[in-house]
Amino acid sequence: NMTSKLLWASFILATLTFATPLSLHPDQQKVLLVSFDGFRWDYLYKVPTPHFHYVMKYGVHVKQVTNIFITKTYPNFYTLVTGLFAESHGIVSNDMFDPILNKSFSLDHMNIYDSEFWEEATPIWITNQRAGHTSGAAMWPGTDVKIHKSFPTHYMPYNESVSFEDRVDKIIEWFTSKEPINLGLLYWEDPDDMGHHLGPDSPLMGPVISDIDNKLGYLIKMLKKANLWNTLNLIITSDHGMTQCSENRIIELDQYLDKDHYILIDQSPVAAILPKEGKFDEVYEALAHAHPNLTVYKKEEIPERWHYRHNDRIQPIIAVADEGWYILQNKSDDFLLGSHGYDNALPEMHPMFLAHGPAFRNNFTKESMNSTDLYPLLCHLLNITAMPHNGSFQNVQDLLNSATPRTTPYMKSTTFLHGSIKPKEYEQEESYAYFIGVSLGSIIVIVFFVIFIKHLIHSQIPDLQDMQAEIAQPLLHA
Ligand SMILES: [Zn+2]
Repeated sequence: NMTSKLLWASFILATLTFATPLSLHPDQQKVLLVSFDGFRWDYLYKVPTPHFHYVMKYGVHVKQVTNIFITKTYPNFYTLVTGLFAESHGIVSNDMFDPILNKSFSLDHMNIYDSEFWEEATPIWITNQRAGHTSGAAMWPGTDVKIHKSFPTHYMPYNESVSFEDRVDKIIEWFTSKEPINLGLLYWEDPDDMGHHLGPDSPLMGPVISDIDNKLGYLIKMLKKANLWNTLNLIITSDHGMTQCSENRIIELDQYLDKDHYILIDQSPVAAILPKEGKFDEVYEALAHAHPNLTVYKKEEIPERWHYRHNDRIQPIIAVADEGWYILQNKSDDFLLGSHGYDNALPEMHPMFLAHGPAFRNNFTKESMNSTDLYPLLCHLLNITAMPHNGSFQNVQDLLNSATPRTTPYMKSTTFLHGSIKPKEYEQEESYAYFIGVSLGSIIVIVFFVIFIKHLIHSQIPDLQDMQAEIAQPLLHA
């Protein structure tokens, strides 16, 4: 009958009103995420970086990004695409041992391709593809690993000899193909490689940064040529910074520990120590006050702010070096002049963050964010539902052109799974979007019924079809 049809129409209208103004235009739902490994936030000012500054001028810039502990490459790359702390996504270091799987993970070996290490989380390319979209990845860590039985729709098997230009060309090909990707992930190894070898304080780092700026210039040029510059959202960031080390600041474990009493799983600047059976107390006591620049924690005493406790791959004892100090088992082991992995509160560990595109504000600088916040931002830009994560969309919403809260409520924090307290921000975020939705919906329903009753009063024999057309169409087009 007429009433039920009108109720149905109001329901559809209310739904449209909830959904349409709160999400981005489909043309704006494309993201290219670029990472230059080990690009410390202040490298932007080390030498002239005109291309980075061009992005900042016409886009957004976040001065301080707090990345996650430990400030190593693989843990942070997985955070960027999952929004999770290391204890929750399971990639707790570049070198790990999982006592349950009885397997090791190391960048020096092919075992990073073991799916089991990656499957405590679901990276964004998989969620994007499950939502019916396609993704493309050029060497982004983890994108050539089969995770939950999937790869990115398009990806390049890791090969460090493939040039930056070739990686860019591939990404552009995927964005402009007949079935274009909506998510691209692009990785480059420098300035991390050179930062380790030269040390970030070396004057020779100047040309390395200039070279990265030229590479960004190539990317911008090619995006413009492909008519993508103004239509896709480009985010340029990194996994961590770098600090200067010195041969005068070495902590040699052999001076304090018997080699036969423990296994060194990860070396510096966070030594992950697995004591042999029955040797825990001996190892801990020997190391606890060994060196003034080394802080030693039993697993359960690791500071809460690092969110680095609740995972089997975190070893029973960790020893964390002060900034600029280098842990070696023996002085004859390899030593590098630049290092990272230290406390994530240290500014020198922080990466840069810039973005440009239709969704982002123009010439806007923000003081700080957490690297876990990138994930909900990406999900918003791609219009996909986020998996449980440790970030906050609310914290980075001001980077966007228009305040566009999502209607899809965020799920619980994964720290909750480990018995921590659910962060408050999530609830605020949910209730804000929910409140707007309910208010708009209620107003529409009320307005609809007022118009409906007026019509009933004014017309003796209401013609149902005419009336619906008359009422529904202007509203639908509004
Ligand atoms: Zn790195």
